[in-house]
Amino acid sequence: MSEFYDTHAHLGYPDFADELPQVVARAAAAGITKIICIATDLASSERAIQIAGQFPNVFAVVGWHPSDASQAPEDLRPALRELARRPKVVALGETGLDYYRLPSRKPEFPADGDEIYKRKQAEIFRQHLEVAAETGLNCVIHQRESLEDTIEILKPFADRVRGVFHCYANDVPTMQRILAMGSLVSFTGILTFKNGQNVREALAATPLDKLMLETDCPFLAPVPYRGKRGEPAYVKEISEVAAQVKGCSLDELSSATCATANRFFRGLAGALP
Ligand SMILES: [Zn+2]
Ligand SMILES: [Zn+2]
Repeated sequence: MSEFYDTHAHLGYPDFADELPQVVARAAAAGITKIICIATDLASSERAIQIAGQFPNVFAVVGWHPSDASQAPEDLRPALRELARRPKVVALGETGLDYYRLPSRKPEFPADGDEIYKRKQAEIFRQHLEVAAETGLNCVIHQRESLEDTIEILKPFADRVRGVFHCYANDVPTMQRILAMGSLVSFTGILTFKNGQNVREALAATPLDKLMLETDCPFLAPVPYRGKRGEPAYVKEISEVAAQVKGCSLDELSSATCATANRFFRGLAGALP
């Protein structure tokens, strides 16, 4: 069986609280040999580190999600610096910009609510990049309906920090701009969806050594589990479709994506298993 990694799993979500050992065991049985547990705020960063401490093949990414930026402290950097030093922390994130749910879509918010919200997201994103540059870590980047602003903020850091644009769902030229900055893309179960043709086209055009696979579980479970709770074991179904799209064997896809992840995430190479 070819091995794969789940490079983006929200194992700290309450969805998994009752059966974390079983979820991790099912992943191992499906050939998913490493799992990156991703955080969305300080409490979930602590939780990700704690889960990584429980399982030899689970690692933590610590940071603050842009959708929750309003609740973030003005200066997140001291907390990020402290978290970055903890065992099994392999990157910062998920960070970035998300304009999908702007305050103006809710009636109770003031007229300048969107600008305040976007400015806070940008500040928090920049703080992740600053700490990443200081500590030599890379960043897991979330962007939704905010592509140009995300690229503009990342660009000045591109010589020091690499990003992975996770849950990649943009077009081929955008993928090429991301790779030109030294960053990567990663693909979820959307690859398996009937309406995922644009994402399959983006994958088809991405060089084999510039991409990773992820579930973003509990979200985005691939076919045939679409609509259900996702889990890391389902990287198997994602990898099967990805190999078809790339026209390569599962072994080739395995070697390429695992090597890319081992280079991108600090300390992942050489770690167990
Ligand atoms: Zn995300
Ligand atoms: Zn996520």
